[in-house]
Amino acid sequence: MTTTLLTGIGTLVTGDPGVGEGPLGVLRSAAVVFDGPRVAWVGAAAAAPAADVARDLGGAALLPGFVESHSHLVFDGDRAEEFAARMAGRPYAAGGIRTTIAATRAASDERLAGTVAKLVREYRRSGATTVEIKSGYGQTVSDELRSVQIAGRFTDEVTLLAAHVPPPEYAGRADEYVELVCREMIPACAPHAKWIDVFCDRGAFDAEQSRAVLEAGAAHGLIPRVHGNQLGTGPGVRLAVELGAASVDHVTHVTDADVDALAGSGTVATLLPGAEFSTRSSYPDARKLIDAGVTVALGADCNPGTSYTTSLPFCIALAVRDLGMTPDEAVWAATVGGARALRRTDIGTLRVGARADAVVLDAPSYLHLAYRPGVPLVRDVYVGGVLA
Ligand SMILES: [Zn+2]
Repeated sequence: MTTTLLTGIGTLVTGDPGVGEGPLGVLRSAAVVFDGPRVAWVGAAAAAPAADVARDLGGAALLPGFVESHSHLVFDGDRAEEFAARMAGRPYAAGGIRTTIAATRAASDERLAGTVAKLVREYRRSGATTVEIKSGYGQTVSDELRSVQIAGRFTDEVTLLAAHVPPPEYAGRADEYVELVCREMIPACAPHAKWIDVFCDRGAFDAEQSRAVLEAGAAHGLIPRVHGNQLGTGPGVRLAVELGAASVDHVTHVTDADVDALAGSGTVATLLPGAEFSTRSSYPDARKLIDAGVTVALGADCNPGTSYTTSLPFCIALAVRDLGMTPDEAVWAATVGGARALRRTDIGTLRVGARADAVVLDAPSYLHLAYRPGVPLVRDVYVGGVLA
């Protein structure tokens, strides 16, 4: 295997507090060696070993690739008009998802896969080297099955979100839809997915329905994650903690009891500020969560209705400006935090042995991700040690 030495790194974010400064494990004037798909060496440039290939980054910042732990990419249809209407004053209601369901059901597999490929390329260009992908716009046994199969062509992190909202033909009969999810969709889709997810919120599924979905998924080997507390306070956070979910996502409206429950748990709170941005809603209070000891991840939540962005750098800037996070906390949440939300220890850091997934910025420091919002600072992306 080829070894690659990256030298001239202005600021290196290792994500390993054992080797550098602060929780991000920052090193200056550093070097890194990749051996094939893994990180083989990290340290001061002056002490770097020789390698087959050497590349001088000229003072640029090097970070772990961003870990997107929350996306909805298997869909068809455009909701730009809905966005424009909302910006003209109409509030977001969960029902908007139903327009995407109709378009997705009508689309061919090739068309859906083409959209996923395009969006994964977008994610990659803005520095995300791992992207979790959810189903949830099919909502029939065959459409959910093809959704998780298509997602699986692009990632190992596939999530079955059949219980997204009750589909139109089950309006007023959510219990019957939950039964279909538990009895047919989960058994059919579980071999093609790693995670089971449910939208436990106003206008979607209640605590009892959500519990049924998560427990049925777990019985088929899927690990729970939850959409919770996006639209209002409710049972999502506490249900996620009780069932040992890897993550509860959105966490926009929480009580003190929710924060306490999260702080004492192994469940990550994944904040998705693109959704609040795109629905002009109030942001989650990251400061409160972090100060209470909650593990926080940051995701872009790419979906056609409420957060049609694939840019983790944009979300880092939002998190710093509007969620009360420091730049260090936001970068940590989009790398190490995302990995924790996916229960992965091989990504999200550049420690020795980790996957050689890394981002080179057109900037001397990771601080520029928030300091220069909206600027395409990602210069190069390494995926498994290879320039993507
Ligand atoms: Zn979502």
